[in-house]
Amino acid sequence: MNWCPTCRKSASAVTSETVRSSAFYLKFDFSREALKIFPEVAAIMKTEGAYKVSAVVWMTPLDTLVQVTGLAFHPSAMYVAVKAPTLEGTEIWIGALKLQENFERAGGSEKISRPLLTFSSGKLEGLQLKNPLTSELVTLVKSDQVPLEQGSGFVSFAGDATGSWMQLGPSTTESAEVLEELRDSGKLVQQTPLEQKVFRCGTCQNQTVLRFT
Ligand SMILES: [Zn+2]
Repeated sequence: MNWCPTCRKSASAVTSETVRSSAFYLKFDFSREALKIFPEVAAIMKTEGAYKVSAVVWMTPLDTLVQVTGLAFHPSAMYVAVKAPTLEGTEIWIGALKLQENFERAGGSEKISRPLLTFSSGKLEGLQLKNPLTSELVTLVKSDQVPLEQGSGFVSFAGDATGSWMQLGPSTTESAEVLEELRDSGKLVQQTPLEQKVFRCGTCQNQTVLRFT
């Protein structure tokens, strides 16, 4: 459902336009607590000599990154943990099995690796990960609106405590400073060009978001 956060109601007479923008693959690191709740991943981290575990999250609009209140995964998808060699050291990345090629290529891999762990998405529910910009903890919730045709199987949303809507739109201002900070701290996997349909509310013309609860 297209929801207008400005009018605070479902948007009628929605108009759409295609915009060129960027999609971002960002790392949301597992918190200490999350590793305790998901010991299989913590064990892999140890075996592989990795220094952290991150969910690769697709398409967080950079200018709303500070407002992110949660992350969503797809309830019926399988997820994988893979080894990711980076400049900072060995890392473990988590993403949807179906999109493994996508997010590994985004990270610069030429070959697709053998997953270290394959698991059903239920394992992810309620885990708390760190916002790459603010280090604030955000909670993983399920949503069947999470795309499985592109991205990584994780998307971010901003909204109230129940996580009532998902940010699908691209950044309106791709803040160069934020981008630089994320790049410097090793939290950016990749920036890719994106052509996307943006929906606008017929009443106020502001961009709508997809409501999923
Ligand atoms: Zn509106």
